[in-house]
Amino acid sequence: MRLSLTITESQANSMIAHAEHGLPNEACGLLGGKSGYVSTVYPGTNAEHSPIRYLLDPIDQFNAMKMIDQNGEDLIGIFHSHPKGVAIPSEIDITQAYYPKATYVILARHNKKDWYMRAYYLVEGQINEVRIRRINTQHTILKRDKRTN
Ligand SMILES: [Zn+2]
Repeated sequence: MRLSLTITESQANSMIAHAEHGLPNEACGLLGGKSGYVSTVYPGTNAEHSPIRYLLDPIDQFNAMKMIDQNGEDLIGIFHSHPKGVAIPSEIDITQAYYPKATYVILARHNKKDWYMRAYYLVEGQINEVRIRRINTQHTILKRDKRTN
């Protein structure tokens, strides 16, 4: 069980930019990485084009999974936004949490303006909050591995 998800400020900013770009609808995407450390953000299209639901476009999902594989990452997170709500999993989010190993990150806005995010581990209908650690720079072994390939 994971206790925290570590993301860089620039990764957080790219997730926020994607959420902002998706307004008024929910935006979504995947997070590749290892052992709770995000190494890549894969923004996708919300095939539902809805402000209250999301479904990652299957082609975007396929392409992101291929990149995750090629980069030697794991699918460690799935993120989406709640443009109108709070950063707490909805009933649909809980029933549609098909990836028990992934951390679900939800972005929401304070006063319809400032984005914030919270993360959860959703298993068997249970909501367990995962702490998000934001760091300034990325120190993952993954990036070094990629250069030597
Ligand atoms: Zn949701």
